[in-house]
Amino acid sequence: MSTPCIICVAITGSLPTKANNPAVPISVSEQIESTHAAFEAGASIVHAHVRNADETPSSDPEKFAALKEGLEKHCPGMIIQFSTGGRSGAGQTRGGMLPLAPDMASLSVGSNNFPTRVYENPPDLVDWLASEMLTYDVKPEIEAFDLSHILKARAMADAGQLAGTPYVQFVMGVKNAMPVDRDVFDYYIHTVKRLFGTDAPWCAAGIGSNQIILNEWAISSGGHARTGLEDNVRLDRDTLAPSNAALVERAAELCAKYERPVATWAQAREILGLKMPAA
Ligand SMILES: [Zn+2]
Repeated sequence: MSTPCIICVAITGSLPTKANNPAVPISVSEQIESTHAAFEAGASIVHAHVRNADETPSSDPEKFAALKEGLEKHCPGMIIQFSTGGRSGAGQTRGGMLPLAPDMASLSVGSNNFPTRVYENPPDLVDWLASEMLTYDVKPEIEAFDLSHILKARAMADAGQLAGTPYVQFVMGVKNAMPVDRDVFDYYIHTVKRLFGTDAPWCAAGIGSNQIILNEWAISSGGHARTGLEDNVRLDRDTLAPSNAALVERAAELCAKYERPVATWAQAREILGLKMPAA
């Protein structure tokens, strides 16, 4: 049987608003409801940012705490991954929620351009975020916006800054960063296998209309898939996605097409080397 595919749902992000798609969950209660439907549809990881009431990005640990509590209650077993990405704040505020000890957190290990600005990840901040993740037993998901980020993850693992086998996510299709390019994608996979072993799990995310393309590439190549309204608010050019769950269903259909079972939360935890939740 082929390896189960982990579907990660990135429910909110820091950019899309209700004006872009009314289904984008903003309040913590909307986030819990949207995640629950996505969980039922097959998502086993939730990647979450939090927002203020005016929809601007927040890094308030109290909001993250409320979200974590609700998710643990309504989506038992689901892997909770918080974003330490750069739009919600600067410097160490980006990791202010790590003492809550979510299962995972995203970790960017280098800088690159974003559509209208530099996505700054200075070395001292990267080192600090990684050390906080070690302290609180939070597994990082390495956000690879560039090939060098995969090699940086290897160097950090060698230096004892990352526990276990790094879980790398290839991010493609962000304007001014790495475009969606099949040769690069295949080389990313080759590099992960070379540096972390042929069984090392990896995943991929595509932005906007590239989401479904990266879902298909990843699922057909033995990787794991990220979907959700953070990265893409549409089913196609003319149709808004009605929910995060609808995007998860779309990824699950691709798993069926390539004869990959959708990973349960327990299978996802096993693949990623995460502990099972306390009963
Ligand atoms: Zn994010």
